[in-house]
Amino acid sequence: MLNYLIVLLDQASTSFCYYTNPAFSKNNSSKPIPYNTLNRVVNYGLKNSLMINYLFGIDPLPDKYQKLIAKSQHVKILPARAFDHFSDEEVVLVINESELEFAKTLEDNFKQNIILRFPKSNLPELSAYIELLINKCRRLNLNLLDINKYDTNDLEEYKRQLDLIYDIVEDRYLSGHSVELSFISDRMMLSEMNNCNAGLTHLTVAPNGKFYLCPGFYYDDVNNSVGDLNSGINIKNQQLLDLEHAPICRICDAYHCKRCIYLNQKTTLEINTPSHEQCVVSHLERNTSKLLLDELNTRLEVFHDQEPIPEIDYLDPFELAKKTPGKKQNFTKKVSHGQQKKYEQSSDRELLLKILDQQDKILKLLNSKTK
Ligand code: SF4
Repeated sequence: MLNYLIVLLDQASTSFCYYTNPAFSKNNSSKPIPYNTLNRVVNYGLKNSLMINYLFGIDPLPDKYQKLIAKSQHVKILPARAFDHFSDEEVVLVINESELEFAKTLEDNFKQNIILRFPKSNLPELSAYIELLINKCRRLNLNLLDINKYDTNDLEEYKRQLDLIYDIVEDRYLSGHSVELSFISDRMMLSEMNNCNAGLTHLTVAPNGKFYLCPGFYYDDVNNSVGDLNSGINIKNQQLLDLEHAPICRICDAYHCKRCIYLNQKTTLEINTPSHEQCVVSHLERNTSKLLLDELNTRLEVFHDQEPIPEIDYLDPFELAKKTPGKKQNFTKKVSHGQQKKYEQSSDRELLLKILDQQDKILKLLNSKTK
């Protein structure tokens, strides 16, 4: 069920995820979405009770655009360089690969949600950036750029960084603070898949008024559209996007993984089959969450309500099928019909709210223990 739209307000809108907007990267000048198109998107959202995530560029939009945006239930997502225009509002701030220096200038009381789009070339500095930002935001989402190009050395380096981040997160919990890092703490709170769900719970509207599965599909080829504001949504083979039709993902318990269909089709040419690199990255994170959850459960009795994360001996669920041909049958067993239904019905927002609830509960318990 469609819950929200992502709207590209400018040809040079910031990215917020794995894909790249070439016009933003090249600092192209601003070219806002036509006002009439935005008007139609806002009305479409209102008519269909959809939340709208607006992706801003660097330049401010005219006042009449801001007034239109204010009519919809929305979230503003903007690049770090545009923050000055919105410093008195609640926003989601994207620190892009070209804006890492911005992280060093943030005040301690910043406390907005941050998306960190982290370049492969800076990987050895990742834990230092997390240490810098962990106190200065409510929630941090990490998107490792170019994970499809990670080789064995990069994956080993990422594991080293996760070990360092483990210590940072553990210290923070032990000193009575809760933590929200998409790649570590989310998995500790999840007991079902919480993927991106592009094409299922959200669609993107580009400045040309057409729908796309996500912005990455638009930037790759404008002909990738799946309908438009006039004729409606038309997704061919939509069933291929859901978990039921993803044979590797449906036996997996790296529940926090984005299961990015944009990266899937780029790397494996199959929208429902992830690359080895995407799986290994998610499993390194999942295993760090497991160690942290076990350790915190021993040291602080505040995580006992969380489902334990089992020990596993693989980093890519595909290895399960290779090692034990019989396990192939489990590809159809692991997610029961009931679970699948629950997964399809719950939006990622609902799951995030569940995570927030758990975080609140844990924070209260932590506070009572460290008083
Ligand atoms: S499919 Fe989802 S996770 Fe992948 S780039 Fe698009 S929005 Fe991001």
